[in-house]
Amino acid sequence: MTTTGPWTRATAAAGLMRDGVPRPTVFARMSARALEHDALNLGQGFPDDAPPAEVAEAAVAAIRQGRNQYPPGAGEAVLREAIADHQAQWYGLHWDPASEVLVSTGATEALAATILALVEPGDEVITLEPFYDQYAAIIALAGGVHRTVPVTSRTDENSGDLILDVEEDALRGAFSERTRLVLVNTPHNPTGLMLWVGALQTIVDEAARHDALIVTDEVYEHLTFGPAHLPIATLPGAQDRTISISSAGKTFSVTGWKIGWITARPELITAITGVKQWLTYSSGAPFQPAVAAGLAMPASAFHDLAADLRERRDLLTSGLREIGFRVSVPEAGYFTVADAGPLGEPDADALSERLPVEAGVVAIPLSAFYRDGDAGEARAFLRVAFCKSRATIEQSLEQLESWAARQR
Ligand code: PMP
Ligand code: GLN
Repeated sequence: MTTTGPWTRATAAAGLMRDGVPRPTVFARMSARALEHDALNLGQGFPDDAPPAEVAEAAVAAIRQGRNQYPPGAGEAVLREAIADHQAQWYGLHWDPASEVLVSTGATEALAATILALVEPGDEVITLEPFYDQYAAIIALAGGVHRTVPVTSRTDENSGDLILDVEEDALRGAFSERTRLVLVNTPHNPTGLMLWVGALQTIVDEAARHDALIVTDEVYEHLTFGPAHLPIATLPGAQDRTISISSAGKTFSVTGWKIGWITARPELITAITGVKQWLTYSSGAPFQPAVAAGLAMPASAFHDLAADLRERRDLLTSGLREIGFRVSVPEAGYFTVADAGPLGEPDADALSERLPVEAGVVAIPLSAFYRDGDAGEARAFLRVAFCKSRATIEQSLEQLESWAARQR
């Protein structure tokens, strides 16, 4: 028998409740499948790369120096200052490290604390769809109502590639007098889509008109392959109502460290702290000075990391295209979207279950990022990660090629 409670609401909202029985998240499930079948894991978004040496060394040094007890709840001063400096240098955004910066246990805790602090039962929260699974779960835990704006897809006439987009009218249409928060994820997981000034300004204008707050999840901010990331807080009228969230996990290849942060006006930081301090109180002491060292790296180091990832994006997308998938070539992030429809595979849910066994490769069905797992026109789409080593990507492509040949 299952014990019910608020958790059942969260689990169901993330599409993980089947006949009253909870399933692990798609990431946990697919990583377990990879182990079970000794398959290459292009599913869960964690990199094969080591962190930059100075970041790793700083963590080791901090442990040896004895920085192993509770740090301040708001975060070590050295990290809060580094976060404020980073926002000023990269984006021209100025924050007071003492009152406008909060360190969290990954972006995950930052998102949870923010939504739980600010959303009352019945309040509406807007996200794109597909969306990172945690959003639906926490909105439901808070008793909020989840409204979504679809990411649309079409084929590029020249390249035949998959183009993903968001329509400004649809963004506008999602707001109502009940909108409390709009949760903007750019660069976007699972599609790598980046929102540009038109869409972002529409969100800012509508948020102002409805007196809603903006929460922005920017964990892929430095993993961009063309134009640089544009934080919504830099738009006119946005900074005062925006809670910006990011994390060290992706930028420095340390997803297991769980160090994230929030920048926002003091009254918003106070509200969010009012939840965060009861969730974890404080976050990973020795990792904080290490992440501070990472944020202070020269811009060229960030660009080198992105350029290296871009090469692996190109390797994966061109390989998948040759095999016969219709692919998106994302502008940012860890993932490409691959349409298996042209290979005669209309159901990515079923395909992602078969691929570990038949091809020795794990990918995630895009349906995992839709409400009730209903991906509609995207039901043949897989999310495929390129944050893995070249060898892993090349071997995966070889195995997928032989698999596809056997299907013909
Ligand atoms: N937001 C998005 C869009 C993500 O993809 C992830 C996972 N990497 C997170 C938040 C969670 O970040 P963290 O690992 O820092 O908790
Ligand atoms: N963010 C990672 C992804 O999208 C997964 C994080 C998790 O396992 N919760 O793959």
